[in-house]
Amino acid sequence: MAHDVIIIGTGPAGLAAGAYAGRSGLDTLFFEDESIGGELVNRHEIRSYPGFPDGVSGTELRSKMVEEAEKYDPDVNLERVQRIEPGDPHAVLTESGAYEATAVIVATGSSDGHLGVPGEEEYAGRGVFYCATCDGPLYREERIAVVGGGNHAVIDAVFLTEYASEVLLIDGESELAADETLVEEAREHDDVEILNGATVAEVLGADGLVTGVRVERGGGEETIELGGVNVNVGSRPNSSFLDDTVALDDEGHVAVDHRMETDVAGVFAAGDVRQGSPLEIAAAVGDGVTAIEAAKRHVAER
Ligand SMILES: Cc1cc2nc3c(=O)[nH]c(=O)nc-3n(C[C@H](O)[C@H](O)[C@H](O)COP(=O)(O)OP(=O)(O)OC[C@H]3O[C@@H](n4cnc5c(N)ncnc54)[C@H](O)[C@@H]3O)c2cc1C
Repeated sequence: MAHDVIIIGTGPAGLAAGAYAGRSGLDTLFFEDESIGGELVNRHEIRSYPGFPDGVSGTELRSKMVEEAEKYDPDVNLERVQRIEPGDPHAVLTESGAYEATAVIVATGSSDGHLGVPGEEEYAGRGVFYCATCDGPLYREERIAVVGGGNHAVIDAVFLTEYASEVLLIDGESELAADETLVEEAREHDDVEILNGATVAEVLGADGLVTGVRVERGGGEETIELGGVNVNVGSRPNSSFLDDTVALDDEGHVAVDHRMETDVAGVFAAGDVRQGSPLEIAAAVGDGVTAIEAAKRHVAER
């Protein structure tokens, strides 16, 4: 028998949609490829979530959101979704089989962006790292770099000073794109140095470990010695499994209307994976609520 709703992904967007679905009595099935809570588990400090003026840790917010969703005793399959086959009902395909639902919400988030320069892949996990919370403690007393200039990069640069002796914030633009208050915080921090207008052209290493980066700056080149490199340059939507199913933009984000509905009736997208997302937890939660409310109407009309 078909479920009312299948929610793919259990980050903030999926959990918010799930809590509302539970409250509305919808028969809901979740799929999750990695860990319940999505990217929340990797966020040391969330600065911009309404209701927490002093910030909140990712793990705390995660446990509250999971606790709320669990109140409705949801079915969760820890499996990667491989494909959606649109129909009436829609079919969601995983390695273990096909699952049917009247409405599907894609809340699969995004993955870390990469620099795409020589040495990055070779030294990933050997000095190149993407999650400051997870890997920061490995760089105690090292001089490290954070590559990027957005809010998340600046927050992580300051956070990493808890471990590293010095953090060099390397950004290709002439000014950091992060919010002014964050930039001020980084500027005033004794252990953060900001290097603007510098592009990392290569990650250097020896004996299997990072030793530094080669940067291009002002028409010249320089080598900077480092013990680690945190790549913090945005994200890529987790939407490859949707190729040929719903319309995607050039960067792979799912195109949606104001109800978070895709070009396939009854298939919705919410959170970082959708086109135009501000890539914030509060926005993902709002998307999840918008999507489930629209999905509810879709189910009622069938
Ligand atoms: C370094 C960094 C710091 C950040 N700091 C902040 C901050 O301070 N404040 C803030 O508001 N935001 C912050 N963000 C952004 C925030 O983490 C995201 O906006 C938010 O997690 C998006 O939620 P989501 O539910 O859309 O996706 P996610 O949290 O990414 O969850 C998606 C889930 O879907 C699962 N999934 C993916 N593909 C499949 C599949 N095929 N089948 C089954 N499951 C699948 C994934 O395993 C994951 O659990 C930060 C981001 C970064 C990179």
